[in-house]
Amino acid sequence: MSDSQVPDDVTRKKDQVVATARRCFELRLQTNAGGNLSVRLDSRDAVVIKPSGVGFNECTRDNLQVVTLDGNILPTAADLRPSKDLDFHLDIYRRRDDINAIVHCHSPWATGYASAGLEVPCLTVQTVEKIGRIPLIPLSDNGGPQTAAMIGPCFDDPGIRAAVLANHGTIGTGETLMAAQYLAEIIEETAHVAFVRDTLVMAHGLDTRGLPRFGTVKDEMVAMAR
Ligand SMILES: [Zn+2]
Repeated sequence: MSDSQVPDDVTRKKDQVVATARRCFELRLQTNAGGNLSVRLDSRDAVVIKPSGVGFNECTRDNLQVVTLDGNILPTAADLRPSKDLDFHLDIYRRRDDINAIVHCHSPWATGYASAGLEVPCLTVQTVEKIGRIPLIPLSDNGGPQTAAMIGPCFDDPGIRAAVLANHGTIGTGETLMAAQYLAEIIEETAHVAFVRDTLVMAHGLDTRGLPRFGTVKDEMVAMAR
């Protein structure tokens, strides 16, 4: 491949967004309306992000936006409105230099837990090892969607890689788009497992004491290793 054929960084990142969005859609993590995903450019000061009104299964090189971290939207050929999620994506990138990608999905199992006011419990080994904690962020005081000012501060803790928004969806972050995508998948899988566990525990009248609960498994493993 000659230099002229090597895609530039913006094109490569757009192709990653297109592939990841399609994967989310095919895995049913996200229907064709809602959700969002973005990835930071190598220049570090801008991201590629899906605009409003473009479905996960409709992303192309031509309908993605490039936005600087201070919110300046670079002109595109198509007339695209910025996503409602743009502010919280940019806020997380500004707060965390180690985060280069964000996948936000309205995946049903995890969103169901959060909408019941329950944290998705970190009960699988993979969740404990890969995520550690999944904070639950409630709706705003007036019942509206979570704002960037509510979401961003959760990520000031460098140990936080993911969160779930009540009545809304999940947020997975990572060094790469694939890493962020994996977290979105793990959160959803864990919520599904938790639902099966909780249903069986209730159906069989089991004692929940002794079952792994949020925030305890890792501590116990650390204690056992001492
Ligand atoms: Zn959303």
